Amino acid sequence: MSAGDDPAPLGFGNRFTSHMVVARWTTEKGWGPAGLTGHRPLELPPTAMALHYGQAIFEGLKAYAAADGTLALFRPWFNAERFARSAARLAMPELPPQVFVAACETLARADADEVPRGQGQSLYLRPFMIAVEPNLGVRPSREYLFAVVASPVDHFFAGGGEAIDVWCPDGLIRAAPGGTGAAKCAGNYAGSLATKAEALANGCQEVLWLDALEHRWIEELGAMNFFCAVRTPDGETQLVTPALSDTILAGNIRDSLLRLAAGLGHRVTERPVALAELTADDSRVTEAFACGTAASVVPIGAIRTPRGRTLVGDGRPGKLTAALRDELAAVQYGRQHDAHGWMHPVPGVSLAPSP
Ligand SMILES: *Cc1c(COP(=O)(O)O)cnc(C)c1O
Repeated sequence: MSAGDDPAPLGFGNRFTSHMVVARWTTEKGWGPAGLTGHRPLELPPTAMALHYGQAIFEGLKAYAAADGTLALFRPWFNAERFARSAARLAMPELPPQVFVAACETLARADADEVPRGQGQSLYLRPFMIAVEPNLGVRPSREYLFAVVASPVDHFFAGGGEAIDVWCPDGLIRAAPGGTGAAKCAGNYAGSLATKAEALANGCQEVLWLDALEHRWIEELGAMNFFCAVRTPDGETQLVTPALSDTILAGNIRDSLLRLAAGLGHRVTERPVALAELTADDSRVTEAFACGTAASVVPIGAIRTPRGRTLVGDGRPGKLTAALRDELAAVQYGRQHDAHGWMHPVPGVSLAPSP
């Protein structure tokens, strides 16, 4: 069955493929083999340490089917290396990046015929690691489980390229200097969900987080990085994103867009962006967007705070935003030469070419 015959939309993260990859680590033996099994429930002791103290990290990357029948992962080494950094921050063992990439290849190959091939669709891979030692002591676990599961997905936001409203809360923060904001760890998301619910209740789709110390500087969204286009006094348009720090997650798409934009001849700047730079009456910000693996590039049409709503530019998706989204998609779906060598073909897979 092709995805196009299916009446119910795939959505994001609702369905899972047939297989998963699992490996275990112990202090005595290190990593055991990463084996392919059917996708099924994990058996865990109720005292598995991840359930109590939150030693849990994850990644998200996609496999894209190209018209010529290749199936390719987008920059999997980027995710593998970030996974190792997240592990180190949470006192978890490093999974060698080559094991991470091989596990993703194994799963994508096993479930290649479950990769959806409609417009904007892909196979989302979710590698994760959790502490599984049965113990209630507050210390690093001595046993871990690494697994990769996969989900056939649509574009993250129903409605595709429409602009979203984002919610800037008073008071609450996502990450503080010295904390875990730069690690892709489960607890960061748990701490953000009440604010996400507040965003939805206020007509917004996502939270735009400000810095913890001054509550003034834009950091990022709940699971996406932030960019804006700024018109300089000499009439040039610059692409701007906050510089990375220990309170911002180093996104794969963020890094890729910085490179794509520079390659297209745009001026790109990593510098602090104050919320007031977007909400001021004489704002020079003409476009803003969020970006990440799940949703790709999402235009931000307006910013809402408890004090009101401000349009970004004219509130509609901007030209630069659309150009970058199209450029990225063209590389990911194999419609354009992969000048940066980002696409990582899954060895041993050839799908039927699509028209
Ligand atoms: C995953 C994530 C991103 C985006 O990272 P990508 O590698 O581009 O998918 C940005 N911010 C946060 C907080 C995230 O969890």
